Parts: sequence; C-alpha cells; structure tokens
Amino acid sequence: MINVFPKLLLHSCCAGCTPKVLEALTKEYNVTGYWFNPNIYPEEEYQKRLDALKTYSRQEKYELIISENPSQSPFDRSRFRRNKGRIKRGISVSKTDRCRFCYDGRIRSCAEEAKKDNINYFTTTLLVSPYQEHKIIRELGEQIARQVGVEFVYRDFRPMFYAGKTVIYNQKLYMQKYCGCVYSLKERNKK
Ligand code: SF4
Repeated sequence: MINVFPKLLLHSCCAGCTPKVLEALTKEYNVTGYWFNPNIYPEEEYQKRLDALKTYSRQEKYELIISENPSQSPFDRSRFRRNKGRIKRGISVSKTDRCRFCYDGRIRSCAEEAKKDNINYFTTTLLVSPYQEHKIIRELGEQIARQVGVEFVYRDFRPMFYAGKTVIYNQKLYMQKYCGCVYSLKERNKK
C-alpha cells in the first residue's frame, strides 16, 4: 500500500528513545530514521547503540539512514576532544552550553539531510527524554528549521519515555546507562 502521508526524517538518538516516538509519528507521517550521534563516547558504546537501533529498525522494517560524516556539521569528535582538553586545563564548559552544542550538531545534521532528500519535515527522539533540556531542543529545532528551510515537528513525547524503554528491554536490545559524551560518562561513574 502506498503511504500518502508527508515524509518526515526522524533523528534517532538511540533504540530506547525510538519506538513510541515512531509509533506516534507514523499516524501522521511517512517516517525515515536518521542516525547522527558523534557525541557518543567511547567507540565501543557508540557501536553498541548503533547496533541496537539497526536491529530494531530491521525488525520493524523501519528505514534508517546512517550518517557518520562529521563534516556535515560543525559538531564532530575532534571538537569534543578539544573541549575535553579545555576541561583538563581547568576552563569550565557548563552542562547547558555543552548540551546545546551537542543538540545543535545533531539536529542540524538531520535538518540538512532532510533538505537534501526533499523531505519537508524533521524532528528528533531527544524530545522524548525527561533527562534532556527539552526547551532548548525545541528552540534549536525551530531555529535550525528556519535557517535550513524545512519544518521542525515539535511534540512533547516525554510521557512515552518509559513505555519506549520497555519495548527495547523486552526485545533484549542494548540499553545505555548514561547520556553519551565523555562528561556524562564521568558523571555516571561518580554516582
Ligand atoms: S550530556 Fe548528553 S546531551 Fe549533553 S553533551 Fe553529553 S551527550 Fe550531549
């Protein structure tokens, strides 16, 4: 059957945040997934999260575009490493600044990919997490949409967060224990 809904590119941050967002959006859009998460540290963790999302996508017959091209945005691993160096030298980078920078790179990459593929709508699974800076994600999504010339679909998916995790848990797929970057790993280890 032909899907007559408008196309939407969904930036997926991980498998756990994807199922319920995808379920809600497919009622209105023809959804393709998009992976661009160079914030994830270390490499082994990056691969585990990507593999979990790939497995979930295959099972759900959900098309997933995987982008690992850091030149698509100003955000890349070497830039994160430079920030790590600044922290070591005692120059602080606040969590809010760091997360804004992180969201910007990932959301912008999705918007640019949507534009390139003639997809008019885009959004991100980051909107499902109660642990993320929801207001900043919305602001950035709307601002980047204006800059790139595509539409950002805003929804407050947060009430679906735990139901989505349960789907992935029941499928015995990998579930991460920290947000992603080296700083969030250190914060988790401190706890
Ligand atoms: S805590 Fe999460 S959102 Fe913030 S910079 Fe690290 S990976 Fe990105």
